[in-house]
Amino acid sequence: MSKHLVIIGAGAAGLPVASHVRKKNKDIEITVITDREYFAYSPCGIPFVLSGAISSFDSLIMRNEEYYRDLNINLINRTSVTRIDIDNNSILYGTEKIKYDILVIASGAKPISPPIPGIDLEGVYFLNSLEDAFKISNAITSSKNPTIIGAGAIGLEMAHAFLKKGLKVRVIEMKDHVLPNLLDKDMGDIVSEYLSSLKMEIHTSTVASALLGDKKVEYIQANGNKYPTDLVLVSVGVRPNVKLAVDAGIETGATGGIITDASLRVKRKGRFIENVYACGNCVEATDIITHKPTISALGSTAIRQGIVVADNILGKNSVFGSISSPSIAVVGELEIGSVGVTKEKAIDYGIYPIEGKARGLTRARYYPRGEEIYVKILSDSDYRVIGTQVISKEGVKGRIDAMSLLIGRKTTVHQVATSETSYAPPISSVLDPLTMAARKIIEPEE
Ligand SMILES: Cc1cc2nc3c(=O)[nH]c(=O)nc-3n(C[C@H](O)[C@H](O)[C@H](O)COP(=O)(O)OP(=O)(O)OC[C@H]3O[C@@H](n4cnc5c(N)ncnc54)[C@H](O)[C@@H]3O)c2cc1C
Repeated sequence: MSKHLVIIGAGAAGLPVASHVRKKNKDIEITVITDREYFAYSPCGIPFVLSGAISSFDSLIMRNEEYYRDLNINLINRTSVTRIDIDNNSILYGTEKIKYDILVIASGAKPISPPIPGIDLEGVYFLNSLEDAFKISNAITSSKNPTIIGAGAIGLEMAHAFLKKGLKVRVIEMKDHVLPNLLDKDMGDIVSEYLSSLKMEIHTSTVASALLGDKKVEYIQANGNKYPTDLVLVSVGVRPNVKLAVDAGIETGATGGIITDASLRVKRKGRFIENVYACGNCVEATDIITHKPTISALGSTAIRQGIVVADNILGKNSVFGSISSPSIAVVGELEIGSVGVTKEKAIDYGIYPIEGKARGLTRARYYPRGEEIYVKILSDSDYRVIGTQVISKEGVKGRIDAMSLLIGRKTTVHQVATSETSYAPPISSVLDPLTMAARKIIEPEE
């Protein structure tokens, strides 16, 4: 009899498990269950549909039901799994109980809802799914002065999308600079300056303390001020969605994410379980710099974990290593990238970073339309690179990805400073700003 693989979650982690396993194994029975209506779409594209850069939400949907039917994958949507019974290798949804031989939990994360009075008022939104995006898209048509709480990557991409609709946009951020998980303050201030030049109102070091209104939100109160607003998007991060797993006795760590071994098998009663895996935003991973558990809220991590789980199901003995979380946000014309730790995070973990900064051009000085590029590299006291931040209107992703590779290989700033980089006037300067920033750490007086 063929084995039955059951996957809870049809997002960036769950669906790659199904399709990768199916590619290599035509016999195994595969069931994927999601409580959402939509699946196999890119949430990452949502801000760009709202900004008008992408013509419709339909473009974000990559696969339909037929695609999975043709692959002989049984995809059940609009259905919530209510129980996992590990002792009996079964799950429950509605009144239906199904048995599994292998279970994958890929239940994602949920937006954090901060304890702000008035958060349940009409006109207050969270963004985690296409369904949420439809609601926001409808509401924004009659909005004049939306507010975003949280200047993270999603908050700022959405703020810019609202700005493109000609609205007066206000962003409220608790920390003293924007993109606090990606950037240090000096780098965040470069982004703030750009956003202010677009007439976006940015309030850093500002705590939203109440949302006011009878039925619908009318004002936001923050740092003793009261600002009129008719739409609030709360974008202050996500928490692993682990209730199902916890109810089944599966262990979670200090981050709130599911604990796994390197093969992404879950732990219960102190032992890793052979036939139950977890992947994506519901699990905790290990930070490559701090060596501590961390949460990656990235789609790029979720997909890589899904592939590792698929490989293990196929008997390949694949492991998922530590993460440096290379991330990039695109806000208007600006690309903002970060990998490894920020200065604040390093200090929180007892690492006292040395920093080197460089400002250069993305093309040869004489070549038209070169853009300014800002680079900051952080190293530890052994001169190993622990983080890199890059801001420019072009050329950010390649540099962040290169640094991700180098951080993974425990590269020193000396090696970065002397590394060979390619050059052609329309796309680079002779000395890459990455090497110049690394040099500033070795020879600070230069
Ligand atoms: C607006 C936005 C922009 C983003 N931009 C980027 C970006 O640029 N780059 C990047 O790397 N990441 C980005 N992300 C993050 C990325 O989308 C997530 O990291 C990724 O989707 C996580 O994948 P996942 O499979 O773990 O969770 P999800 O994709 O959220 O999937 C979770 C699945 O679990 C299902 N589920 C949960 N509980 C149950 C249950 N009880 N029963 C049945 N089904 C259940 C859900 O229905 C869903 O199908 C963005 C996210 C958003 C919202």
